[in-house]
Amino acid sequence: MKRKSRISFVIPAYNESAGIARFHSELLMPHLKHLPEYEVIYVNDGSHDDTLEKLTAIAADDGRIRVINLSRNFGKELAVTAGLHHASGDAIITLDADGQHPPELIAKFIEKWERGAQVVIGIRKSNRKEGGVKKLGSKLFYRLLNSINTVRIEPGSTDYRLITKDVQREFVKLTEHSRITRGLIDWLGFRRDYIYFDSPARLAGTASYDSTKLLGLAVNSFISLSLKPLFILAWMGLLITLLSLVVGVFIFVEQLLLGDPLGLNFTGAALLGIFISFLVGLVLTSQGVLAVYLSHIHTHTQGRPLFVVDHSTSVGIE
Ligand code: UDP
Ligand code: MG
Repeated sequence: MKRKSRISFVIPAYNESAGIARFHSELLMPHLKHLPEYEVIYVNDGSHDDTLEKLTAIAADDGRIRVINLSRNFGKELAVTAGLHHASGDAIITLDADGQHPPELIAKFIEKWERGAQVVIGIRKSNRKEGGVKKLGSKLFYRLLNSINTVRIEPGSTDYRLITKDVQREFVKLTEHSRITRGLIDWLGFRRDYIYFDSPARLAGTASYDSTKLLGLAVNSFISLSLKPLFILAWMGLLITLLSLVVGVFIFVEQLLLGDPLGLNFTGAALLGIFISFLVGLVLTSQGVLAVYLSHIHTHTQGRPLFVVDHSTSVGIE
């Protein structure tokens, strides 16, 4: 163990009443016993059941366990963010409260950190129980995301992560609202390492992320991490305009100027069709011009730092 380091655990919980006590005593605690110093921060994300009461009871016995109770349900991304804002450890590990991020891996996360990684990312090996559609969807999602993104995101990346205090210091500066916590951590950079694991079934209860919520999360990832979707239509517009221009000029020369030597005999409807696609192309292209302005506003309102400093010697930047 590094010096006398302190590890924080950030665990979001939403309607986890049925399994939370077991998670804490049977799954989590056995793996914390040998740590010299630690704190566990449970974030109750506006649960409608008695998760809060259960957490309060858990924390009552032990000063190292804290509960942050959010005033309503803000969603996992913000619940984890709240925890990360309050954690005081040299390294912080985030994990789910439902047992799907096996706590027996905690030692491995810490080991990777001690070997120099600043961000350790848990990667879920393919989930056998997942249906074909969900699997295909996630494959497609990562393929698309990585093709438009500046930072590569490993397929199967989860929120089971360790970040160091340095990464936390930069993370808390990020103020954007629509966020994917893991996407932001990926954006920050730093030295990364990976741990691959099989995700067991939930301890109890049901996952609160249904297909619509997952789709929302996917859209959020794209929008917060890349501006390219804004420009796709513009490129399409440009392409349509150019193509119809070429075809239009060809018809003009072939039929109207040269008197149809190739005998193609374009009808009026065909000419009209080409003219309409030319106009549609123009409209899409002008949306692209708007997209350029919008992208500037978007980047500005996200308020991300211009750069992220890992550490620096001699110039006095902390
Ligand atoms: N969670 C949360 N707020 C929410 C939904 C979920 O804090 O609005 C927590 C939940 O208690 C669990 C973790 O986030 O600890 C992962 O949620 P879940 O198991 O529902 O999703 P999964 O990622 O496993 O599909
Ligand atoms: Mg889960």
